[in-house]
Amino acid sequence: MPEKELIPTPRSRFLRVKCLDCGNEQIIFGSCSTPAKCEVCNRSLVQLTGGKSKVLAKILEVLT
Ligand SMILES: [Zn+2]
Repeated sequence: MPEKELIPTPRSRFLRVKCLDCGNEQIIFGSCSTPAKCEVCNRSLVQLTGGKSKVLAKILEVLT
């Protein structure tokens, strides 16, 4: 059923992401109150802006 489409900004679910800088894959919690950083290079993976979170990494999978 799902077509290939952009994943909307996640709110509170786990995401498997890939760091844009070093390529490290890790699971982050995409809520609006939890900053996440790459475990390898310490790059910010989630930017918190006015109550919304913006994922700064490549989202590989949304784990629901
Ligand atoms: Zn990294």
